[in-house]
Amino acid sequence: MTDLTLCIHGHFYQPPRENPFTGTIPFEAGAEPFGNYNEKVHSECYQPNAELGNFDLISFNFGPTIARWLETRFPSTMARIVASDRYHEQTFGVANGMAQAYNHTILPLTTHRDKITQITWGAIDFHHRFGHPPDGMWLPEMAVDMDTLVAMASQGLRYTILCPTQVRRSNGDWVDSRFSYYVRLPDGSRFVIFLRDEELSNRLAFDQGLTENASTFVRWCRDVIHTDRGLFLIATDGETFGHHQPRRQFFLQSLLRTEAPKAGFQITTPAQHLRVEMPTQDVILMENTAWSCAHGVARWSIGCSCTPGDQNWKSRLRMALDRLAGGVDALYQSECQRWISQPWALRNAYINVILGTVDGLQLLQQFESSPIPAPYGVRLLRLLEAERYCQAMYTSCGWYFEDLSRIETRNNIAHAAMAVELVKQATGIDLATSLRNDLAAARSWITDETGRDIYDRIVDQRQV
Ligand SMILES: [Zn+2]
Repeated sequence: MTDLTLCIHGHFYQPPRENPFTGTIPFEAGAEPFGNYNEKVHSECYQPNAELGNFDLISFNFGPTIARWLETRFPSTMARIVASDRYHEQTFGVANGMAQAYNHTILPLTTHRDKITQITWGAIDFHHRFGHPPDGMWLPEMAVDMDTLVAMASQGLRYTILCPTQVRRSNGDWVDSRFSYYVRLPDGSRFVIFLRDEELSNRLAFDQGLTENASTFVRWCRDVIHTDRGLFLIATDGETFGHHQPRRQFFLQSLLRTEAPKAGFQITTPAQHLRVEMPTQDVILMENTAWSCAHGVARWSIGCSCTPGDQNWKSRLRMALDRLAGGVDALYQSECQRWISQPWALRNAYINVILGTVDGLQLLQQFESSPIPAPYGVRLLRLLEAERYCQAMYTSCGWYFEDLSRIETRNNIAHAAMAVELVKQATGIDLATSLRNDLAAARSWITDETGRDIYDRIVDQRQV
């Protein structure tokens, strides 16, 4: 018996592909023979891993927006994933699913209010699908600051996973990623941080030769780790197993069912690990850091050398969307004033309308301080729907890549256009003029079009 434990954590996520004007996914070239990438990734990864029972063996987070699509399109795959979480809870007393912030937003770049909404929506969505509240939450791109941890703790969450580079000892030294740690929050309470093993995670994700079979990978692991003790946490995109790397669903099954236990690893998850071993040491959080940008969170704000070309469009797009969100928030808040005493608690609860578990007008009744006349209720619901699109327009993928003209960025602009349209329907006020002016400052270095050109074309054609 050794004290060597292994956890594989899969971050399962796809950017939203639906045209927000129609709610359907257009044909995507490159996904053939499938109609779009969601279907391709399902066939190569979600379905085979679910059918092999691999979700029983790993720790995972499954993006709310892709879960929503999966539940409608391939309900049996989603049901199998949910069954894995339940199996874990029944077998080990703790579940193996973690929640995810709802729209895959870079949380350090948002307001505290938006953090709370993203985290609340992600937690309620998880509860709705998996039948219990989440214990831990995956942060999009592992982007973190203290305010994000505070917001997660306020919603009852107690752990997340980061890279070792995102924390330090109080004397500035690096920490040993084989253990979990506490970060002390400003109120004195503590939040648990698990650290992924960088070398094991990167080699598993990118070294195809090493993952052709599980026994080779385990032998290599035993050679490089030089210890019989500690937790080795491999965290990577879940799509690695079958989509990014063909046939790696079989590797994953063989690794966790056979080869790793044979080599002396006990298989665990963060929640299981916490049942036997709580952290004993505090670490300092390196704020405004993430796992896929060495420049803090610049990749999603001002741009950085992670992506080529003129990256000025990133800050200009964000400024344009921030100004739009400010306008929508102000109109929503002023509309709430007469009837709703807690507009932001109402927005947080609006996820239940998105999930279809409560009717919009019924939700308003739960929050009204005086009865809302019907026409005002309809206006308020339109503004809440505008708030929903304002959340969606911050999807991190819009800033992840090199250029403004990419589909992920155009999708964010399309969500902004939906918010503008809903506000106009609700209040008669048109926020398009100032948004178009702001978007004109963001220019593609590939196509030379501006954000305003892209916005106008999307609105004109009602497609992305
Ligand atoms: Zn960077």
